[in-house]
Amino acid sequence: MKYQMTLDYTIPFGDLAPYFEALQEGKALASECIKCGYVAFPARTNCGACGGNDIKWKTLTGTAQIQFRTDGGNDSFALVKFDGADTSSTVGLLNPNQKTTIGTLVAPCGDAPGLWLELANEHEKERR
Ligand SMILES: [Zn+2]
Repeated sequence: MKYQMTLDYTIPFGDLAPYFEALQEGKALASECIKCGYVAFPARTNCGACGGNDIKWKTLTGTAQIQFRTDGGNDSFALVKFDGADTSSTVGLLNPNQKTTIGTLVAPCGDAPGLWLELANEHEKERR
């Protein structure tokens, strides 16, 4: 048996609106816990370390280091740690032909949700 399901859903941005607005511009806006200083990117309204719910915004550079990556037939993804963040996150790789382990956040590609990373080319890697 094969069924096709269609689901329309809306995620209210709420207190995370500044995070999503920055993301549309390709900017990395993290949340920083006022109580313990834990920095989360993607941002969250409750601290994953201490459970505190008072946060302030912290702008990151948008650069990230790949921890693991997986390459499929059409898409490539990676687990990365954005510089300045205490968390890891999954991203789509914009230019998976590059085999470097560093990249920079870019604005979402078309209607594709989530975080996208443009990998640095080998020459850029040598300059850093
Ligand atoms: Zn905290």
